[in-house]
Amino acid sequence: VDEAKAVAARAYELDRKHVFHSWAAQGSFKPMVVTAAEGSYVWDGNGDKLLDFSSQLVNTNIGHQHPKVVQAIVEQAQRITTIAPHHVNDQRSEAARLISERTPGDLNQVFFTNSGAEAVEHAIRMARVHTGRNKVLSRYRSYHGATALAINVTGDPRRWANDRGTEGAVHFFGPFLYRSAFHSTNEAEEEQRALEHLEQVIELEGPATIAALILETVPGGPGIIPPPPGYLRGVRELCTKHGIVMIADEVMCGFGRTGRWFAIDEFDTVPDLLTFAKGVNSGYVPLGGVAIAPHIAATFNDRPYPGGLTYSGHPLACAAAVATINAMSDDGVVDNARIIGETVIEPALREMAQRHSSVGDLRGRGVFWAVELVENQSTKAPLAPYAGTSQAMVEMMAECKRLGMLPLMVSNRIHIAPPCTITADEAREGLEILDQVLKIADSYAT
Ligand code: PLP
Repeated sequence: VDEAKAVAARAYELDRKHVFHSWAAQGSFKPMVVTAAEGSYVWDGNGDKLLDFSSQLVNTNIGHQHPKVVQAIVEQAQRITTIAPHHVNDQRSEAARLISERTPGDLNQVFFTNSGAEAVEHAIRMARVHTGRNKVLSRYRSYHGATALAINVTGDPRRWANDRGTEGAVHFFGPFLYRSAFHSTNEAEEEQRALEHLEQVIELEGPATIAALILETVPGGPGIIPPPPGYLRGVRELCTKHGIVMIADEVMCGFGRTGRWFAIDEFDTVPDLLTFAKGVNSGYVPLGGVAIAPHIAATFNDRPYPGGLTYSGHPLACAAAVATINAMSDDGVVDNARIIGETVIEPALREMAQRHSSVGDLRGRGVFWAVELVENQSTKAPLAPYAGTSQAMVEMMAECKRLGMLPLMVSNRIHIAPPCTITADEAREGLEILDQVLKIADSYAT
Protein backbone atom coordinates (compact mmCIF):
# COMPACT_ATOMS: atom_id res chain seq x y z
CA VAL A 1 0.00 0.00 0.00
CA ASP A 2 2.81 2.41 0.92
CA GLU A 3 4.55 1.54 -2.33
CA ALA A 4 1.40 2.32 -4.34
CA LYS A 5 1.10 5.66 -2.55
CA ALA A 6 4.74 6.45 -3.32
CA VAL A 7 4.17 5.67 -7.03
CA ALA A 8 1.11 7.95 -7.00
CA ALA A 9 3.04 10.72 -5.28
CA ARG A 10 5.84 10.48 -7.86
CA ALA A 11 3.30 10.60 -10.72
CA TYR A 12 1.75 13.71 -9.18
CA GLU A 13 5.09 15.43 -8.77
CA LEU A 14 6.09 14.74 -12.40
CA ASP A 15 2.64 15.80 -13.61
CA ARG A 16 2.88 19.18 -11.91
CA LYS A 17 6.37 19.66 -13.28
CA HIS A 18 5.88 18.54 -16.88
CA VAL A 19 2.22 18.05 -17.84
CA PHE A 20 0.25 21.00 -19.20
CA HIS A 21 -3.47 20.42 -18.56
CA SER A 22 -6.63 21.25 -20.56
CA TRP A 23 -8.60 24.37 -19.54
CA ALA A 24 -6.63 24.79 -16.28
CA ALA A 25 -4.68 27.63 -14.69
CA GLN A 26 -1.55 25.53 -14.41
CA GLY A 27 -0.20 27.18 -11.24
CA SER A 28 -3.15 26.46 -8.97
CA PHE A 29 -4.38 23.23 -10.59
CA LYS A 30 -4.55 20.24 -8.22
CA PRO A 31 -5.50 17.18 -10.30
CA MET A 32 -6.53 13.89 -8.75
CA VAL A 33 -4.25 10.89 -9.31
CA VAL A 34 -6.11 7.84 -10.61
CA THR A 35 -4.30 4.57 -10.05
CA ALA A 36 -6.96 2.03 -11.06
CA ALA A 37 -10.39 1.79 -12.63
CA GLU A 38 -12.95 -0.98 -12.98
CA GLY A 39 -16.62 -1.02 -13.91
CA SER A 40 -18.28 1.97 -12.25
CA TYR A 41 -15.35 2.77 -9.93
CA VAL A 42 -11.95 4.49 -9.93
CA TRP A 43 -9.28 4.52 -7.20
CA ASP A 44 -7.36 7.68 -6.28
CA GLY A 45 -3.76 8.18 -5.19
CA ASN A 46 -4.64 7.50 -1.54
CA GLY A 47 -6.16 4.17 -2.50
CA ASP A 48 -9.69 5.50 -1.93
CA LYS A 49 -12.47 3.97 -4.08
CA LEU A 50 -14.78 6.43 -5.84
CA LEU A 51 -18.03 5.74 -7.67
CA ASP A 52 -17.56 7.34 -11.10
CA PHE A 53 -20.74 9.37 -11.61
CA SER A 54 -18.97 11.35 -14.36
CA SER A 55 -17.88 8.53 -16.70
CA GLN A 56 -14.73 10.71 -16.81
CA LEU A 57 -15.78 13.28 -19.43
CA VAL A 58 -19.03 11.42 -20.09
CA ASN A 59 -17.29 8.84 -22.23
CA THR A 60 -16.90 5.50 -20.40
CA ASN A 61 -20.42 4.41 -21.34
CA ILE A 62 -19.47 0.74 -21.06
CA GLY A 63 -17.67 1.27 -17.72
CA HIS A 64 -13.99 1.03 -16.98
CA GLN A 65 -11.81 -1.85 -18.21
CA HIS A 66 -14.57 -3.87 -19.86
CA PRO A 67 -12.80 -7.24 -20.37
CA LYS A 68 -14.09 -7.81 -23.93
CA VAL A 69 -12.97 -4.38 -25.09
CA VAL A 70 -9.57 -4.65 -23.40
CA GLN A 71 -9.13 -8.09 -24.99
CA ALA A 72 -10.04 -6.77 -28.44
CA ILE A 73 -7.45 -4.00 -28.12
CA VAL A 74 -4.76 -6.47 -27.02
CA GLU A 75 -5.55 -8.86 -29.88
CA GLN A 76 -5.63 -6.06 -32.43
CA ALA A 77 -2.29 -4.71 -31.17
CA GLN A 78 -0.79 -8.14 -31.75
CA ARG A 79 -2.33 -8.43 -35.22
CA ILE A 80 -1.90 -4.98 -36.79
CA THR A 81 -1.43 -1.88 -34.66
CA THR A 82 -1.62 0.83 -37.28
CA ILE A 83 -2.31 1.24 -40.99
CA ALA A 84 -2.69 4.26 -43.28
CA PRO A 85 -6.25 5.50 -43.81
CA HIS A 86 -6.23 4.77 -47.56
CA HIS A 87 -5.83 1.01 -47.00
CA VAL A 88 -8.71 -1.27 -46.06
CA ASN A 89 -8.76 -2.63 -42.54
CA ASP A 90 -11.25 -5.25 -41.35
CA GLN A 91 -11.90 -3.58 -37.97
CA ARG A 92 -12.57 -0.21 -39.61
CA SER A 93 -14.95 -1.81 -42.11
CA GLU A 94 -16.81 -3.67 -39.37
CA ALA A 95 -16.96 -0.62 -37.07
CA ALA A 96 -18.46 1.42 -39.93
CA ARG A 97 -21.05 -1.30 -40.55
CA LEU A 98 -22.04 -1.54 -36.89
CA ILE A 99 -22.34 2.24 -36.59
CA SER A 100 -24.32 2.55 -39.84
CA GLU A 101 -26.72 -0.13 -38.61
CA ARG A 102 -27.50 1.98 -35.55
CA THR A 103 -27.49 5.57 -36.83
CA PRO A 104 -30.93 6.92 -37.78
CA GLY A 105 -32.38 6.72 -41.30
CA ASP A 106 -30.00 6.32 -44.21
CA LEU A 107 -26.80 7.62 -42.59
CA ASN A 108 -24.77 4.73 -43.95
CA GLN A 109 -21.24 5.99 -44.52
CA VAL A 110 -18.75 6.94 -41.83
CA PHE A 111 -15.74 9.25 -41.87
CA PHE A 112 -13.57 8.43 -38.86
CA THR A 113 -11.69 11.04 -36.82
CA ASN A 114 -9.74 10.94 -33.56
CA SER A 115 -12.02 13.19 -31.52
CA GLY A 116 -15.36 14.90 -31.28
CA ALA A 117 -13.97 18.29 -32.26
CA GLU A 118 -12.49 16.86 -35.45
CA ALA A 119 -15.81 15.22 -36.24
CA VAL A 120 -17.47 18.64 -35.94
CA GLU A 121 -14.77 20.29 -38.11
CA HIS A 122 -15.24 17.70 -40.85
CA ALA A 123 -19.03 17.69 -40.70
CA ILE A 124 -19.02 21.45 -41.25
CA ARG A 125 -16.44 21.14 -44.03
CA MET A 126 -18.65 18.57 -45.77
CA ALA A 127 -21.65 20.87 -45.41
CA ARG A 128 -19.75 23.86 -46.79
CA VAL A 129 -18.49 22.03 -49.86
CA HIS A 130 -21.90 20.41 -50.39
CA THR A 131 -23.81 23.71 -50.24
CA GLY A 132 -21.15 26.14 -51.47
CA ARG A 133 -22.16 28.34 -48.50
CA ASN A 134 -20.15 29.48 -45.49
CA LYS A 135 -22.17 30.35 -42.38
CA VAL A 136 -22.89 27.90 -39.58
CA LEU A 137 -25.79 28.33 -37.16
CA SER A 138 -25.42 26.92 -33.67
CA ARG A 139 -27.04 27.32 -30.28
CA TYR A 140 -26.09 29.36 -27.29
CA ARG A 141 -25.56 26.85 -24.47
CA SER A 142 -23.72 24.34 -26.65
CA TYR A 143 -20.29 22.74 -26.75
CA HIS A 144 -18.81 21.39 -29.96
CA GLY A 145 -15.08 21.02 -29.21
CA ALA A 146 -11.90 23.03 -28.77
CA THR A 147 -10.40 23.28 -32.28
CA ALA A 148 -10.66 26.57 -34.20
CA LEU A 149 -14.00 26.17 -35.91
CA ALA A 150 -15.55 23.86 -33.29
CA ILE A 151 -14.83 26.34 -30.49
CA ASN A 152 -16.24 29.21 -32.56
CA VAL A 153 -19.54 27.43 -33.09
CA THR A 154 -19.55 26.49 -29.39
CA GLY A 155 -22.03 28.57 -27.40
CA ASP A 156 -20.65 28.37 -23.85
CA PRO A 157 -17.98 30.28 -21.92
CA ARG A 158 -15.22 28.09 -23.30
CA ARG A 159 -15.59 30.01 -26.60
CA TRP A 160 -14.88 33.43 -25.13
CA ALA A 161 -11.09 33.26 -24.90
CA ASN A 162 -10.86 31.61 -28.33
CA ASP A 163 -13.21 33.83 -30.32
CA ARG A 164 -10.73 35.33 -32.78
CA GLY A 165 -13.30 35.97 -35.47
CA THR A 166 -16.55 34.24 -36.01
CA GLU A 167 -15.41 31.75 -38.69
CA GLY A 168 -18.93 32.19 -40.04
CA ALA A 169 -20.55 31.11 -36.76
CA VAL A 170 -23.93 32.62 -35.89
CA HIS A 171 -25.62 31.75 -32.60
CA PHE A 172 -29.31 31.40 -31.84
CA PHE A 173 -31.34 30.51 -28.74
CA GLY A 174 -32.56 26.95 -28.41
CA PRO A 175 -35.46 25.87 -26.23
CA PHE A 176 -34.67 25.94 -22.49
CA LEU A 177 -37.86 26.37 -20.52
CA TYR A 178 -36.24 26.83 -17.09
CA ARG A 179 -34.35 29.92 -18.30
CA SER A 180 -36.50 30.69 -21.31
CA ALA A 181 -35.21 33.35 -23.69
CA PHE A 182 -38.79 33.66 -24.91
CA HIS A 183 -40.65 34.22 -21.61
CA SER A 184 -42.51 30.96 -22.18
CA THR A 185 -44.51 29.40 -19.39
CA ASN A 186 -44.80 25.86 -20.76
CA GLU A 187 -42.97 23.47 -23.03
CA ALA A 188 -45.33 23.77 -26.01
CA GLU A 189 -44.93 27.54 -25.97
CA GLU A 190 -41.15 27.22 -25.65
CA GLU A 191 -41.02 24.84 -28.61
CA GLN A 192 -43.10 27.08 -30.85
CA ARG A 193 -41.30 30.30 -29.89
CA ALA A 194 -37.84 28.76 -30.24
CA LEU A 195 -38.75 27.61 -33.76
CA GLU A 196 -40.16 31.04 -34.67
CA HIS A 197 -36.96 32.63 -33.38
CA LEU A 198 -34.82 30.23 -35.42
CA GLU A 199 -36.83 30.92 -38.55
CA GLN A 200 -36.27 34.65 -38.06
CA VAL A 201 -32.53 34.17 -37.55
CA ILE A 202 -32.37 32.17 -40.79
CA GLU A 203 -34.33 34.82 -42.69
CA LEU A 204 -32.31 37.72 -41.30
CA GLU A 205 -28.95 36.04 -41.86
CA GLY A 206 -29.94 35.11 -45.43
CA PRO A 207 -30.82 31.45 -46.02
CA ALA A 208 -28.59 31.27 -49.10
CA THR A 209 -25.53 32.10 -46.96
CA ILE A 210 -26.04 29.32 -44.41
CA ALA A 211 -24.23 26.02 -45.00
CA ALA A 212 -25.12 24.18 -41.82
CA LEU A 213 -27.04 24.19 -38.60
CA ILE A 214 -25.31 22.21 -35.86
CA LEU A 215 -26.88 21.35 -32.54
CA GLU A 216 -26.48 18.80 -29.81
CA THR A 217 -29.60 16.63 -29.77
CA VAL A 218 -29.48 16.97 -26.00
CA PRO A 219 -27.05 19.78 -25.08
CA GLY A 220 -24.73 18.08 -22.58
CA GLY A 221 -21.82 20.09 -21.15
CA PRO A 222 -23.92 23.26 -21.13
CA GLY A 223 -26.62 21.75 -18.92
CA ILE A 224 -28.23 18.51 -20.19
CA ILE A 225 -31.23 20.17 -21.80
CA PRO A 226 -33.57 17.73 -23.59
CA PRO A 227 -35.60 19.59 -26.23
CA PRO A 228 -39.43 19.70 -26.29
CA PRO A 229 -40.85 16.77 -28.30
CA GLY A 230 -41.37 18.51 -31.67
CA TYR A 231 -38.44 20.93 -31.67
CA LEU A 232 -35.97 18.86 -33.66
CA ARG A 233 -38.62 17.95 -36.25
CA GLY A 234 -39.23 21.70 -36.63
CA VAL A 235 -35.50 22.33 -37.05
CA ARG A 236 -35.37 19.56 -39.65
CA GLU A 237 -38.21 21.19 -41.62
CA LEU A 238 -36.52 24.60 -41.57
CA CYS A 239 -33.22 23.09 -42.73
CA THR A 240 -34.92 21.17 -45.53
CA LYS A 241 -36.90 24.24 -46.61
CA HIS A 242 -33.77 26.41 -46.87
CA GLY A 243 -31.25 23.83 -48.14
CA ILE A 244 -29.27 23.97 -44.88
CA VAL A 245 -27.36 20.84 -43.82
CA MET A 246 -28.60 19.65 -40.41
CA ILE A 247 -25.82 18.29 -38.19
CA ALA A 248 -26.79 16.47 -35.00
CA ASP A 249 -23.86 16.50 -32.59
CA GLU A 250 -24.16 13.25 -30.62
CA VAL A 251 -20.60 13.25 -29.31
CA MET A 252 -21.83 13.28 -25.70
CA CYS A 253 -25.46 12.15 -25.91
CA GLY A 254 -24.93 9.29 -28.38
CA PHE A 255 -24.14 5.60 -27.89
CA GLY A 256 -26.56 4.76 -25.11
CA ARG A 257 -26.19 7.77 -22.84
CA THR A 258 -29.89 8.76 -23.01
CA GLY A 259 -31.12 5.16 -22.97
CA ARG A 260 -31.22 4.92 -26.77
CA TRP A 261 -28.45 4.24 -29.24
CA PHE A 262 -28.71 7.87 -30.32
CA ALA A 263 -30.57 10.59 -28.46
CA ILE A 264 -32.21 11.67 -31.71
CA ASP A 265 -34.04 8.32 -31.94
CA GLU A 266 -36.52 9.69 -29.42
CA PHE A 267 -37.40 12.62 -31.67
CA ASP A 268 -38.22 10.89 -34.93
CA THR A 269 -35.78 13.06 -36.88
CA VAL A 270 -33.02 12.18 -39.33
CA PRO A 271 -30.19 14.72 -39.66
CA ASP A 272 -27.99 14.98 -42.76
CA LEU A 273 -24.84 14.42 -40.73
CA LEU A 274 -24.33 13.02 -37.24
CA THR A 275 -21.13 13.50 -35.26
CA PHE A 276 -20.05 10.99 -32.61
CA ALA A 277 -17.01 10.16 -30.42
CA LYS A 278 -16.77 9.30 -26.69
CA GLY A 279 -19.24 6.38 -26.24
CA VAL A 280 -18.47 4.82 -29.65
CA ASN A 281 -15.67 2.92 -27.91
CA SER A 282 -15.95 4.49 -24.45
CA GLY A 283 -12.72 6.39 -25.14
CA TYR A 284 -10.54 3.33 -24.59
CA VAL A 285 -8.66 4.52 -27.69
CA PRO A 286 -9.40 7.99 -29.18
CA LEU A 287 -12.08 7.77 -31.88
CA GLY A 288 -14.75 10.01 -33.36
CA GLY A 289 -16.52 10.33 -36.66
CA VAL A 290 -19.22 11.66 -38.93
CA ALA A 291 -22.12 9.51 -40.14
CA ILE A 292 -23.12 10.75 -43.58
CA ALA A 293 -26.41 10.70 -45.52
CA PRO A 294 -26.24 9.53 -49.16
CA HIS A 295 -27.06 12.90 -50.71
CA ILE A 296 -24.11 14.52 -48.90
CA ALA A 297 -21.80 11.59 -49.68
CA ALA A 298 -22.83 11.90 -53.37
CA THR A 299 -21.21 15.34 -53.51
CA PHE A 300 -17.90 13.55 -53.09
CA ASN A 301 -18.52 10.75 -55.56
CA ASP A 302 -16.65 12.38 -58.42
CA ARG A 303 -14.87 15.21 -56.66
CA PRO A 304 -12.41 14.32 -53.90
CA TYR A 305 -13.27 15.13 -50.32
CA PRO A 306 -10.83 17.90 -49.33
CA GLY A 307 -9.77 16.55 -45.93
CA GLY A 308 -8.09 13.64 -44.14
CA LEU A 309 -6.26 12.43 -41.07
CA THR A 310 -3.26 10.11 -40.72
CA TYR A 311 -5.15 8.11 -38.10
CA SER A 312 -8.63 8.13 -39.68
CA GLY A 313 -10.09 4.74 -38.82
CA HIS A 314 -7.14 3.65 -36.67
CA PRO A 315 -7.28 -0.16 -36.23
CA LEU A 316 -6.85 -0.11 -32.43
CA ALA A 317 -9.61 2.47 -32.02
CA CYS A 318 -11.91 0.67 -34.47
CA ALA A 319 -11.28 -2.74 -32.86
CA ALA A 320 -12.28 -1.13 -29.56
CA ALA A 321 -15.44 0.26 -31.22
CA VAL A 322 -16.39 -3.14 -32.67
CA ALA A 323 -15.96 -4.82 -29.28
CA THR A 324 -17.76 -2.00 -27.45
CA ILE A 325 -20.79 -1.94 -29.74
CA ASN A 326 -21.05 -5.73 -29.75
CA ALA A 327 -20.78 -5.91 -25.95
CA MET A 328 -23.34 -3.13 -25.56
CA SER A 329 -25.73 -5.05 -27.81
CA ASP A 330 -25.09 -8.46 -26.22
CA ASP A 331 -25.39 -7.16 -22.65
CA GLY A 332 -28.41 -4.89 -23.20
CA VAL A 333 -26.41 -1.87 -22.03
CA VAL A 334 -28.58 0.71 -23.79
CA ASP A 335 -31.75 -0.69 -22.22
CA ASN A 336 -29.99 -0.73 -18.87
CA ALA A 337 -29.26 3.00 -19.17
CA ARG A 338 -32.93 3.70 -19.93
CA ILE A 339 -34.26 1.48 -17.14
CA ILE A 340 -31.84 2.81 -14.49
CA GLY A 341 -32.83 6.33 -15.55
CA GLU A 342 -36.54 5.68 -15.36
CA THR A 343 -36.69 3.46 -12.29
CA VAL A 344 -33.82 4.66 -10.09
CA ILE A 345 -32.27 8.03 -11.02
CA GLU A 346 -35.29 10.09 -12.04
CA PRO A 347 -37.56 9.06 -9.13
CA ALA A 348 -34.76 9.62 -6.59
CA LEU A 349 -33.94 13.06 -8.02
CA ARG A 350 -37.61 14.10 -8.11
CA GLU A 351 -37.97 13.05 -4.51
CA MET A 352 -34.82 14.97 -3.51
CA ALA A 353 -36.06 18.07 -5.32
CA GLN A 354 -39.03 18.12 -2.94
CA ARG A 355 -36.79 18.20 0.11
CA HIS A 356 -33.87 20.40 -0.97
CA SER A 357 -34.46 24.14 -1.23
CA SER A 358 -31.38 24.54 -3.47
CA VAL A 359 -32.70 22.41 -6.35
CA GLY A 360 -34.05 24.71 -9.05
CA ASP A 361 -34.47 22.30 -11.94
CA LEU A 362 -33.89 18.67 -12.92
CA ARG A 363 -33.37 17.58 -16.49
CA GLY A 364 -32.27 14.47 -18.25
CA ARG A 365 -32.77 11.04 -19.74
CA GLY A 366 -31.21 7.65 -19.13
CA VAL A 367 -27.91 8.06 -17.30
CA PHE A 368 -27.59 11.73 -18.26
CA TRP A 369 -28.98 14.18 -15.68
CA ALA A 370 -28.39 17.72 -14.49
CA VAL A 371 -29.36 19.07 -11.09
CA GLU A 372 -29.47 22.85 -11.41
CA LEU A 373 -28.79 24.57 -8.09
CA VAL A 374 -30.10 27.99 -7.13
CA GLU A 375 -29.82 30.41 -4.24
CA ASN A 376 -33.54 30.95 -4.41
CA GLN A 377 -36.18 28.89 -6.20
CA SER A 378 -38.31 31.93 -7.06
CA THR A 379 -35.59 34.21 -8.43
CA LYS A 380 -33.67 31.21 -9.90
CA ALA A 381 -30.42 33.03 -9.00
CA PRO A 382 -27.76 30.40 -9.75
CA LEU A 383 -25.59 29.00 -6.97
CA ALA A 384 -22.53 29.79 -9.12
CA PRO A 385 -22.09 32.26 -11.99
CA TYR A 386 -22.62 31.09 -15.61
CA ALA A 387 -18.90 31.06 -16.38
CA GLY A 388 -17.52 30.16 -12.98
CA THR A 389 -17.81 28.33 -9.73
CA SER A 390 -18.55 29.28 -6.12
CA GLN A 391 -17.69 28.35 -2.57
CA ALA A 392 -20.82 26.19 -2.38
CA MET A 393 -19.91 24.18 -5.48
CA VAL A 394 -16.29 23.75 -4.38
CA GLU A 395 -17.41 22.50 -0.97
CA MET A 396 -19.87 20.08 -2.54
CA MET A 397 -17.23 18.63 -4.87
CA ALA A 398 -14.92 18.00 -1.91
CA GLU A 399 -17.72 16.41 0.10
CA CYS A 400 -18.74 14.14 -2.81
CA LYS A 401 -15.18 12.85 -3.02
CA ARG A 402 -14.92 12.46 0.75
CA LEU A 403 -18.07 10.32 0.69
CA GLY A 404 -16.78 8.26 -2.24
CA MET A 405 -18.43 9.68 -5.35
CA LEU A 406 -17.06 11.51 -8.37
CA PRO A 407 -19.64 13.76 -10.11
CA LEU A 408 -19.18 16.41 -12.79
CA MET A 409 -19.73 19.93 -11.54
CA VAL A 410 -20.32 22.59 -14.18
CA SER A 411 -21.12 26.15 -13.12
CA ASN A 412 -24.19 25.85 -10.82
CA ARG A 413 -24.99 22.29 -11.83
CA ILE A 414 -24.18 18.77 -10.77
CA HIS A 415 -24.15 16.49 -13.78
CA ILE A 416 -24.88 12.85 -13.11
CA ALA A 417 -23.50 10.68 -15.87
CA PRO A 418 -22.45 7.24 -14.63
CA PRO A 419 -21.56 4.45 -17.05
CA CYS A 420 -24.56 3.01 -18.94
CA THR A 421 -23.64 -0.30 -17.30
CA ILE A 422 -24.27 0.96 -13.76
CA THR A 423 -26.33 -1.33 -11.51
CA ALA A 424 -29.34 -0.16 -9.53
CA ASP A 425 -27.44 -0.60 -6.26
CA GLU A 426 -24.49 1.43 -7.48
CA ALA A 427 -26.81 4.17 -8.73
CA ARG A 428 -28.55 4.25 -5.32
CA GLU A 429 -25.18 4.46 -3.58
CA GLY A 430 -24.27 7.57 -5.59
CA LEU A 431 -27.70 9.15 -5.22
CA GLU A 432 -27.56 8.75 -1.43
CA ILE A 433 -24.25 10.62 -1.43
CA LEU A 434 -25.79 13.32 -3.60
CA ASP A 435 -28.66 13.62 -1.13
CA GLN A 436 -26.15 14.23 1.69
CA VAL A 437 -24.14 16.72 -0.32
CA LEU A 438 -27.19 18.78 -1.32
CA LYS A 439 -27.48 19.81 2.34
CA ILE A 440 -24.42 21.99 1.71
CA ALA A 441 -26.19 23.65 -1.22
CA ASP A 442 -29.30 24.13 0.94
CA SER A 443 -27.23 25.98 3.52
CA TYR A 444 -26.37 28.56 0.83
CA ALA A 445 -29.96 28.83 -0.41
CA THR A 446 -32.75 30.96 0.98
N1 PLP B 1 -19.33 17.84 -29.18
C1 PLP B 1 -19.90 17.62 -28.00
C2 PLP B 1 -21.38 17.60 -27.90
C3 PLP B 1 -19.12 17.38 -26.86
O1 PLP B 1 -19.71 17.17 -25.67
C4 PLP B 1 -17.71 17.37 -26.99
C5 PLP B 1 -16.85 17.12 -25.82
O2 PLP B 1 -17.27 17.12 -24.69
C6 PLP B 1 -17.16 17.61 -28.26
C7 PLP B 1 -17.98 17.83 -29.33
C8 PLP B 1 -15.67 17.61 -28.44
O3 PLP B 1 -15.15 16.34 -28.33
P1 PLP B 1 -13.58 16.11 -28.09
O4 PLP B 1 -13.27 16.64 -26.73
O5 PLP B 1 -13.40 14.63 -28.24
O6 PLP B 1 -12.86 16.87 -29.15
